[in-house]
Amino acid sequence: MFLSMSHLNKTYSGNKVAVEDFNLEIEKGEFICFIGTSGSGKTTTMRMINRMLNQTSGTIQIEGQDISKMNPVQLRRRIGYVIQNIGLLPHMTIRDNITLVPRLLKWSEDKRNQRAKEMIEMVELPDSFLDRYPAELSGGQQQRIGVARALAADQDIILMDEAFSALDPVTREMLQDLVKNLQQKSGKTFVFVTHDMDEALKLATRIVVMSHGKMVQVATPEEILRHPANDFVEELIGRDRLIQAKPSITTVGQVMLKTPVAMVSSATLVQALKLMHDRRVDTLLVTDKENHLRGFVDIETLNDNYSPTKQLGDIFNERIFYVNENAVIRDTVDRILKHGYKNVPVVDDDGKLVGIVTRAALVDIVYDALFVDDKLDSTGNDDQETTGMTQPSAESATSQTAESSQSQQTGAHAKGTATSDETKVGD
Ligand code: ADP
Ligand code: MG
Repeated sequence: MFLSMSHLNKTYSGNKVAVEDFNLEIEKGEFICFIGTSGSGKTTTMRMINRMLNQTSGTIQIEGQDISKMNPVQLRRRIGYVIQNIGLLPHMTIRDNITLVPRLLKWSEDKRNQRAKEMIEMVELPDSFLDRYPAELSGGQQQRIGVARALAADQDIILMDEAFSALDPVTREMLQDLVKNLQQKSGKTFVFVTHDMDEALKLATRIVVMSHGKMVQVATPEEILRHPANDFVEELIGRDRLIQAKPSITTVGQVMLKTPVAMVSSATLVQALKLMHDRRVDTLLVTDKENHLRGFVDIETLNDNYSPTKQLGDIFNERIFYVNENAVIRDTVDRILKHGYKNVPVVDDDGKLVGIVTRAALVDIVYDALFVDDKLDSTGNDDQETTGMTQPSAESATSQTAESSQSQQTGAHAKGTATSDETKVGD
């Protein structure tokens, strides 16, 4: 194992337990992101890796070597550290800024100059910048130099602690792309602290979720999205927040499309193919005569088993995931995301097919929710009930439109009656 952290504990003076039984094995070339709320122990854990802090107990090994037995210079040759928002040093040229750590590590001047050239090319800036001073560069260019500096000493492991957290979104994305790209090219191992789930999802090969000094989940971004270990992780992912921002929509029935493409199981494959073609779908839902949902068939199965004499009932797949029209949308979103379904059929209490929830419609709802939030923020309008009624997108079901205008009317009506009620009370 390349970097191995075993039973790490850190208790600060005053018995403050900051990290508890932390175990992690990191392969060479991984991009590990630590994520968690403030105070969860991310910085403490990271700082133990290069001995800026000593653990209370447990061991850290690099390629089998216990770091507590390495001398500090030897360790720093292998591990680089980039703290939150340290800017470039203003009185040093770009060259000297880039080669700051190589100089501390006593590289020769030739080697340093060579490295400065390599690094500035790597971050796609012209060599002529090397003799300039930071103030002569734009903010974004300075940030690129910061990344060049982080990688300049050619250490095997790069530690970055919330390095991008104070940047504007455009610069941040640019640097994320740059870092990810350089990391993949160089094969270096990154341990990157962030409190931004989007950033972690974008950069990490594996995400380590921390809470109160403990590791909550270690998984790939995909696994984290599909199978968050608990509510805390789900909250970090943030979809609850997004969905709850639109309180007026709560059940599946309110957003489903009421025109699922379905056929009875006694229909022939010829009829099924024609319907799929006409409606431009690659999956058909299959029902019985009373419209109870029975299963589905996809175009591959249909083609593979095609015979003009067969019926849908001969070939359809009974293993189908569906939701009740009264189910809470939040749970449906969870399941669609977790299982990767493109859409999910909706049934009533009798198991009859009444609609379909598409991934596209859910995405619209999430965007609507964001849009409402923005609007409230920028106008300072606190009349949420009325402002919340943005026009629904065409994709989201008609029931949503009906609900919106109805609520608007109700809102207006309520205001009118409030006055007359007051009058009545006064009487
Ligand atoms: P994070 O980086 O996730 O925000 P930290 O590792 O900085 O968390 O801190 C973890 C916990 O340890 C927090 O409760 C913090 O208040 C505490 N802590 C951090 N540094 C010290 C210190 N030098 N002395 C005492 N407690 C500390
Ligand atoms: Mg921190």
